[in-house]
Formats: sequence, structure tokens, C-alpha cells
Amino acid sequence: PKNILIVGGSAAGLSAADGLREGGYQGPITILNAEPRPGYDRPTLSKALLSGTGEPEVRELRQAAHFAEKGYDVRTGVAAARLDADRKVVTAQDGEEFPYDALLVATGTRNRTLTTDDGLVLPTMRTAEDLVAIRDQVNAADRITVVGAGFIGLEVAASLRERGKEVTLFGAHPLPMDHIIGPEVATIIRDDHRAHGVDLHSETYVTGVSGTPGDYLLRYTDRDGIEHTHATGCVIAGIGVTPNIEWLEGSGLQVDGGVVTDAAGRSNLPDVWAAGDVAYFFHPLYDEFVRVHHWTNAIEQGRVVGLNIAKGTDTPYRTVPYFWTDMFERKYHYYGRRRDGDDSLLALGTYDDEEFLVLFGRDGRFHAIVSRGCERSLRGYKKLLQRGAGWDEALAHAGLTVAATG
Ligand code: FAD
Repeated sequence: PKNILIVGGSAAGLSAADGLREGGYQGPITILNAEPRPGYDRPTLSKALLSGTGEPEVRELRQAAHFAEKGYDVRTGVAAARLDADRKVVTAQDGEEFPYDALLVATGTRNRTLTTDDGLVLPTMRTAEDLVAIRDQVNAADRITVVGAGFIGLEVAASLRERGKEVTLFGAHPLPMDHIIGPEVATIIRDDHRAHGVDLHSETYVTGVSGTPGDYLLRYTDRDGIEHTHATGCVIAGIGVTPNIEWLEGSGLQVDGGVVTDAAGRSNLPDVWAAGDVAYFFHPLYDEFVRVHHWTNAIEQGRVVGLNIAKGTDTPYRTVPYFWTDMFERKYHYYGRRRDGDDSLLALGTYDDEEFLVLFGRDGRFHAIVSRGCERSLRGYKKLLQRGAGWDEALAHAGLTVAATG
């Protein structure tokens, strides 16, 4: 290609740009980013930054000097509104046109929102601006309610609790994130939140919110369908994400809760690629299409797709999914994909220990691993997951690990 356009300048988009240069592409690279600043570290927003004080220090992923050195034309505050794949032009909201020879879609996801009865959108944590807004509301309230006990809701609740706030957390599942990390570790996370004073309600469904900042009344039903109300000063929603794909409507690009691509990142349209949270991509390790909404994936997949565009290759991206999460000074790591009904096995430590490691698998297959602490033991398991090793091999490796660590 002679002219490359990247729409979305966060983890995936910026890594792809670096991948393009690494792959030897020397032509122009334009990066459009709807946000007023180029990509920054999103994971810290719900962790350290919220528990700090003063103006949040947003960590940019790349400095201006990097953009200059690599020759990227980074256009912040510019949102793509339309793709004309026949003309190979992206039109921005203000009507400016951006022609391309190759286009990378890296527009990620945005958070789903909760709205009050009067139409006020309640805060959520996705962007640097959200962080500032949440801090303002959090500073003004003593009682804070987080809706949604996924990893962002859990992290926000933990950060606020560490700031000494009275925190209530409403989760829809019997245990937070149990469908991802399994019931054992989910129980530990729930109990840890409660031990730190988070008032965590499970199997609750929030049906509505009325009021204004400082004075909200939340309505919810419990597991028996009985309705309750809950008074609170601030409501933060952590209820999942939705892909930023509306601007692609009518372009002929195949979407299905994300931009559908093959393992190399190619879409159904010639010269249109996708990477990161917005991609619904074929994963060779699982032999199916997957959506991975994690930081490291966005970075690594972005790079691989950037290399493919530069070189005209079809190298598959087949890295085993990974994420980490920090709650109350404890770090959890997760590799792979646990399936419902998997057996679980403690490979290191016990559930009462500060550090432990749990393997998941079934029918002779090794699917996933969760650890608290234990980072140094994870590398070997990651390799096993990466090459689709069986359960026996994982167990043998666990035996070795246990013996080696005494
Ligand atoms: P995004 O980061 O979503 O970036 C997409 C960019 O595209 C945005 O800047 C957006 O403004 C821009 N854009 C959207 N539409 C348009 C348009 N039409 N035109 C131009 N630009 C557009 N993952 C982990 O693995 N571990 C964690 O601990 C973790 N913590 C997290 C904490 C928080 C608070 C959040 C919000 C996410 C966290 N994640 C974590 C997830 C991780 O941040 C995402 O997986 C990652 O940001 C995805 O990167 P991306 O580049 O694909 O998309």
C-alpha cells in the first residue's frame, strides 16, 4: 500500500502503526482518534489513578517525539463517520475526507451506560475524561454505588473503598465473574471485597435510577424478584461494552458484534483490516471466532496486523488470550479460555494462601489458568496453552512446579 489510514489511536491502532514501520512500510500513516488525546494507559484508570489524589496523571502510550520520528500524522478529536469502500475514503464527522490504500479499523469498544429516569447518563470508566468526571462526583459523595461486578466494576469498587468511601456493588451473577474465572476464585474475590468492607450484592438486577448527583435512588430486584430501593450519592456503571462499529454501517463490511476478520486481521473487504477490541476474529487455537477485550491482546494483535499490512502477508494471530486485574493490592492473572463445567485443580498453594494457581480443563484438554501472585510460575503454563497441550501435560508440569518450589 502507498497510503495507510488507521481509525482509532489507542492500544491496537498505535501498535499497528509501529508494526507497519517494523514491517518496512515507509509511506504515510494517518491515525484518526475521536478522543481529544492520543492513546493512553486505560487499565490504570480503574486502578491506581482512582485511589490517588489531585489531577489524574494520564500516561500516554507514545510521546509526540515518537510520532514525529516515525512520521505518523496523528489527528486527535477526529471521529470517522462513514466508510466508502468503493472509493476507498473515510469521511470524518466534519466532512473531511481521508483516502486510503489500506485501512485498519481499531475503534475499540465503548462502555454501555445507565441513564436515570430523567435522561441523565450516569458516569462510567473508559476515558481520561470519565476519570475526571468520576473523581469530581466521588469527591462530593460518601456513599457510592457501582452497578456491575465485572472486572471493571470490581476494580472501581476496590479503588473507591481504598479511598475510604462507603461502597455498594450490585452484581447480576451469583458470584462475580464466575463464568470467566471459575466459582472458586470468584468466591475469593467476592469474600475479599466483603472483607474490605464493600457491600456486595449478588444476583441483583438494577431496574432504574432516579435523582441527581449527590442524591440518587436506585431501584433493583433481588434473586427472588422482590423490588428494593437504595439511596446513594453517586452511581457508577460497569455493565459491559459495545463495539464502535456504527460508522461502518452501509459500507459492506461484515460485522457481528465486531468487525469480522480472518486470523490475519483481514476483513471481507479488500484492503480493510481490523484489530483490538473491535475485532471479531478467527482464532486458530480455538478454531472459532472470538472477541477479546483485553489490553495485551490489543497491543499484540495490532502489531501482527500492522506487519501483515506492511508485508502483504497472512500471518495468523494466535496468541492465547490474557488479562490481569488488580484489586486490594492483589494481582490476578488469567491465560486461556475456561469453559463452563471445566474441572479445576489447584496447582500451587491453597485458596487460603496469598498466592495460588488454578488450572481449568476437561476431557483431557487444558483450557485456562488463573493465578493470584505466582507470576513467575505462569510462563511454562502459557507455553502449554499456546501449543494446545493436554491436561496430562499440564498436570505433569504442575507436579514439577510444585516439586521445584518445594
Ligand atoms: P480502545 O482502547 O477502545 O480504543 C479505541 C479508540 O478508538 C478510542 O480512543 C476511541 O475514541 C477511538 N474511536 C472510536 N470510534 C472512533 C471513530 N469513529 N473515529 C475515530 N476514532 C474512534 N484489559 C486488561 O487486559 N487488563 C486490565 O486490567 C484492563 N483494565 C481496564 C480498565 C478500564 C477502566 C478499561 C476501560 C479497560 C481495561 N482493560 C483492561 C481493557 C483494555 O483497556 C482494552 O482491551 C483496550 O483498551 C483495547 O484497545 P483498543 O485499541 O482495541 O480499543
